[in-house]
Amino acid sequence: MSTPRGRPLEYEVTVAHVRRETADTVTLALDFGPERPPYRAGQFINVDPHQFRALGRTAAWLQEHKGRKELARSYSLASAPHEPHVCITVKDEEYLPGLTQYPPLLSPYLVNAPLAGTRLKVLGFMGHYVLPDDVQERTDHIVHLIAGSGAVPNFGLIKDALHRGLTPRHTLLCSNKTWEDTLFREELEALERAHPERLRILHTLTRETDEARYGPTVRKGRVSEALLEELVPDRATCLVYVCGPAIAAWDRKKALETRTPATPRFMETVLGHLHTLGVDDKRIKREAFG
Ligand SMILES: Cc1cc2nc3c(=O)[nH]c(=O)nc-3n(C[C@H](O)[C@H](O)[C@H](O)COP(=O)(O)OP(=O)(O)OC[C@H]3O[C@@H](n4cnc5c(N)ncnc54)[C@H](O)[C@@H]3O)c2cc1C
Repeated sequence: MSTPRGRPLEYEVTVAHVRRETADTVTLALDFGPERPPYRAGQFINVDPHQFRALGRTAAWLQEHKGRKELARSYSLASAPHEPHVCITVKDEEYLPGLTQYPPLLSPYLVNAPLAGTRLKVLGFMGHYVLPDDVQERTDHIVHLIAGSGAVPNFGLIKDALHRGLTPRHTLLCSNKTWEDTLFREELEALERAHPERLRILHTLTRETDEARYGPTVRKGRVSEALLEELVPDRATCLVYVCGPAIAAWDRKKALETRTPATPRFMETVLGHLHTLGVDDKRIKREAFG
């Protein structure tokens, strides 16, 4: 059995149930059996697309066109270790002809195939996007900055920290296109009601057309430097966990080839704001979904 910090191992798990979170996102609850291995909130597992017979031809086509093997995809854990199942939450990646170069391989399958009750092979557990053991000595304020499915590991981190009664308070800023796209909204609101002194949640929405949605805790637009300045007054002592889309490896390659800088995504933009506001890089943990 792997330890939380040991070498990742392959497990064959059962999809205990599937829960639809939003129009394009589901959570798969994975049953590891009676000997569930330990993991840390915020870690991820890998799922190799080659295990699914239905994806065989598409994977072969993509491999031929990309000139390299399709690799396993990583999925952060939405669950915390005290919860009964290990959960991953997967967003059905968009395909926009003319804009995206290839159709996405694995996420459409994980989101749309009838997987409840089936067996999956996963590799776990990996990643350092976790709370440090001495988090209570290091800070009294953890700031979570997430966009879209970037909410997944931070949801696990917050549930774990509140369950363990860790002393730091949490501020969670969720950036989404619309209110309906916001993952784990109701569970997070319930946690905020249960721990009003320890969890504060704010949203920023970029494409919400219902004006009634906006208010003091639901702002319009992207995560801005001004909003971060307002939310993070203790910039020398807080710890920041940032998760969301980042410039992908192929975007960087294309940028080098065309000598045109890659367009910054959520990660690059937010890190830029944090650095401008004087948050030391050592106080920032990041998980890039690029
Ligand atoms: C640590 C980590 C944790 C993650 N956690 C989550 C999570 O909790 N939930 C979640 O939904 N996702 C998560 N992801 C993202 C996830 O791993 C997948 O990247 C995502 O599901 C898309 O996979 P796919 O097979 O559907 O799409 P892919 O086949 O990977 O394609 C995605 C996009 O990339 C483009 N692309 C792919 N290859 C190339 C290429 N060679 N050149 C140009 N463009 C290319 C495609 O055109 C498409 O637009 C995480 C990623 C990491 C690294």
